[in-house]
Amino acid sequence: MRVAIVGSGPAGFYAAEALLKRTDELIHVDMFDRLPTPYGLVRGGVAPDHQNIKAVTRVYEKTAARPTFRFFGNVRLGQDITVEELRRHYHQIVYAVGNEADRRIGIPGEGIPRCTPATVFIGWYNGHPDYRHAKIDLSVSRVAVVGNGNVAIDAARILLRTPAELEKTDIAAHALEVLRNSQVREVFILGRRGPEQASFTSAELKELGEMEDAEPVVAASELAGCVASPESALNSQQEKNLKILQSFAERPPGTKPKKLHLRFLVSPTEVIADAAGNVCGLKLEKNRLELQPDGTTAARGTGEIETLEVGMVLPAIGFSLERIAGVPYDEKARIIANEDGRVVDPVSRSVIANEYVVGWARTGAQGLIGSHKAASAHVVAHMMADGATFAARELPDREAIVSLLRGRGLQIVSFSDWKQLDDVEVARGERRDAPRDKIVDVAGMLAILAQH
Ligand SMILES: Cc1cc2nc3c(=O)[nH]c(=O)nc-3n(C[C@H](O)[C@H](O)[C@H](O)COP(=O)(O)OP(=O)(O)OC[C@H]3O[C@@H](n4cnc5c(N)ncnc54)[C@H](O)[C@@H]3O)c2cc1C
Repeated sequence: MRVAIVGSGPAGFYAAEALLKRTDELIHVDMFDRLPTPYGLVRGGVAPDHQNIKAVTRVYEKTAARPTFRFFGNVRLGQDITVEELRRHYHQIVYAVGNEADRRIGIPGEGIPRCTPATVFIGWYNGHPDYRHAKIDLSVSRVAVVGNGNVAIDAARILLRTPAELEKTDIAAHALEVLRNSQVREVFILGRRGPEQASFTSAELKELGEMEDAEPVVAASELAGCVASPESALNSQQEKNLKILQSFAERPPGTKPKKLHLRFLVSPTEVIADAAGNVCGLKLEKNRLELQPDGTTAARGTGEIETLEVGMVLPAIGFSLERIAGVPYDEKARIIANEDGRVVDPVSRSVIANEYVVGWARTGAQGLIGSHKAASAHVVAHMMADGATFAARELPDREAIVSLLRGRGLQIVSFSDWKQLDDVEVARGERRDAPRDKIVDVAGMLAILAQH
């Protein structure tokens, strides 16, 4: 049986692991990624000061070392290869393409210089090739980060870390240089709803109290002003978060030079530009919370407006899937149309045989890395249950896909090629005592491989 997995992030690798571990079936897995480097957001999203989380790639390396696994890096579905071609060469396809596009707030002024989606900022500091040329101007002193999830926290924390805290990480060298000269002194994390509804994980929130040069600031009124859910409705993460925020609010004013303000119950309504067209402020509307009949809480604008003076705005309000030619797209949820991981026609909802989706492309941007292990295995169980539909189908030779791609002049990056790049990056990193110094452009990566 031959399976194509498109995307080499955690969800793709856990699907590969579940397939390759099976002893009842000989399964060949070919994994494609549009980048020459594997691991998706573990490389391009997880914050550089969270190196321990990246150790998970050792598990993926073990999967990649299995004899029936091949990696085809630098191959983009929808551009270098089509869905039809994958259908011809494989019995089953698993889409594991994540959620790489950002969501827009949809307010006037969004998109002016220094109003930069967090996706761009994060990709830039993580050395993602798509964002290496992003214009990140940190000559401003105050920044607003819009959103109440871990991505907002990551962006704020990286803005406030000292160069010494960052240089021993795998942060991209170009970003370290800009951050060294950063003038940012205050960051505001802005939540539309209250502290209870924030989706920060407690460990990330707590870490805000442990930065070398920066400290969290929470006004007691921010916590008092929200409608508390009935006590029983709070889950353990919400309870922990509230305790942490309470402890921040009770801190006496600190002496650290940089401040991280956590504000709740405000929605941005307009990004304001100065005479040169750059961000100089963000209009905010005060919200109140309304308890809905179904027990959820909604934020409603009160009409009370304030202007927050900031020189940069980073919206971090979520992600969506960019449409890929030939892959059924769910317009509303902005994911691949699916029923429990089986790809379906978005209109009729009928199952498209032998096509599956895992990870963020299946659910939207929710869930930590570890959550994909069980979720991808669940979808692999469907693949096995549906197996009768592929068993008899004859496929072209296994090497035919390689000839097809090479015939298009593509430089395919194998897993051993990636390991060469990995060695080069690790060696470069030693110069600043960092785990690696990333190569940030695809042409540069391919040139290194051409020399070896
Ligand atoms: C900023 C940020 C920080 C995070 N930090 C943490 C953390 O500290 N801890 C934690 O547990 N979780 C963290 N997460 C969540 C975690 O990264 C995700 O749960 C996980 O990466 C989602 O896995 P995925 O495989 O679905 O997608 P991804 O990791 O996004 O992988 C998708 C892959 O598909 C490839 N691809 C996309 N389109 C194509 C195409 N057309 N053709 C070929 N390949 C394609 C991409 O190049 C990418 O390699 C973070 C997420 C973000 C955004």
